[in-house]
Amino acid sequence: MNITAQDIKTIAEREGVDREALQKAIASGRVIILKNARRHIEPVPVGGDTTVKVNANIGMSPEIADEKKEVEKAKAAMKAGADTIMDLSVGGDTWSLLKRLLKLEIPLGTVPVYEAALDTVRRTGSILDMEEDALFNVIERQAKMGVDFMTIHAGITKKTLETVDRSTRVTGIVSRGGSLLARWMRHTEKENPLYRDFHYLLELIKDHHVVVSLGDALRPGCIADATDRAQIEELILLGGLVEECRRAGVGVMVEGPGHVPLNEIEANVLLQKKVCKDAPFYVLGPIVTDIAAGYDHIAGAIGGAVAAMHGADFLCYVTPSEHLALPDVEDVRQGVIASKIAAHAADVARGRGRHRDLQVAGARAKLDWEEQFKHLLDPERACAVRGRRHPRDPRVCTMCGDFCSMK
Ligand code: SF4
Repeated sequence: MNITAQDIKTIAEREGVDREALQKAIASGRVIILKNARRHIEPVPVGGDTTVKVNANIGMSPEIADEKKEVEKAKAAMKAGADTIMDLSVGGDTWSLLKRLLKLEIPLGTVPVYEAALDTVRRTGSILDMEEDALFNVIERQAKMGVDFMTIHAGITKKTLETVDRSTRVTGIVSRGGSLLARWMRHTEKENPLYRDFHYLLELIKDHHVVVSLGDALRPGCIADATDRAQIEELILLGGLVEECRRAGVGVMVEGPGHVPLNEIEANVLLQKKVCKDAPFYVLGPIVTDIAAGYDHIAGAIGGAVAAMHGADFLCYVTPSEHLALPDVEDVRQGVIASKIAAHAADVARGRGRHRDLQVAGARAKLDWEEQFKHLLDPERACAVRGRRHPRDPRVCTMCGDFCSMK
């Protein structure tokens, strides 16, 4: 652990938690710290009694590969309050973008199987030619460069793949990393190297203090597939890998769905916490209905708030362009804000961070607009909306005018 006593003190103060309790939670694995040994960034804690964190995904695609734009998106996400960034690039000069992103002062996550697949396709034209070494070479290289956490799809195995193949799923395997590995495994008839050589993988990253984010390759891609046998079978397997990570002294969190109807979210969180021995839970949304495309940041924030209220620790944002297109800068901003609202709403429900709400309420009661804006999640937008319409009495707003109850 490259975290000093001073770091623990700073984190405890920032998070408003007891220092000793935090130390114990880190030692037990309930809290993990995102910070590669090489990086000079503020360590970000995830899990336990620390506040709910928000991740923003960016990354180039084979269709649109504009490095400058992706850096701009990462900066927009940071400005909107994202706690971490993940680079999910599957196109363009990925190593060059990674270097640029590592200069930003925020923990960075990757999905190494993307890079291994992309490199193979560029060399031979087919993902099916991917060599097992390629995966581990990418993991080692990214760890040495300073990547703070990596999604490792070790839960898709010959056995769990068989369960999916026998299922009546509507959308099959929707995880990009999961579907790449499934295709490779079916073709080569080999076991997933990330699972088979998991110990070797841990050796490669341990000294760099990279956190493993156990990917849910078999997550549901629609609410009809939620909480099915394949998802739960993979979760049970991931629970075993959590223990392997802890034995090896490597920080670990577990990724979760995906698409889940509201009434199944609590059960999903409880199950993950139990099966994975309280490892921090990193949920992707979850999106609570399949009919909200164009507004999936809202569908994801609803699911994220409920998941985090029940104990999820880390929310991966969803943008309004989810399922439709590569997000632009404004999509990224809206996605982060939506997830920040969800994270804060859950923190409030769990008895944390209410002072900020009180500051806004007090300022609102006094019609102190400047003070109110200072404590909002998106002061710029609030200020711009108010500025669009000018009330006759500048103390109130155009909603009620002279009938302002605060006045
Ligand atoms: S005018 Fe109405 S909406 Fe505006 S501040 Fe007063 S009470 Fe609130």
